Amino acid sequence: MAEKKLFCNGCGRILKYENDILREDVFEGKKQWGYFSKRDGEIHSFLLCEDCYDEMVKKFVIPPMVTEATEL
Ligand SMILES: [Zn+2]
Repeated sequence: MAEKKLFCNGCGRILKYENDILREDVFEGKKQWGYFSKRDGEIHSFLLCEDCYDEMVKKFVIPPMVTEATEL
């Protein structure tokens, strides 16, 4: 079985992926656009490495809500 390759959509870097497990934590975005969108019916998905995630949220006027996970 060929090794699956996953890329960060932001910077194009190959993400560390071994034995079906991502060896680094990434942001996974997925959205199925609906009726009130001009993209009705399209599913958009992307991965961002942590650096690219930081770059993305830096552009936000209001930062993401952060809460602590109670169970890890
Ligand atoms: Zn990246």
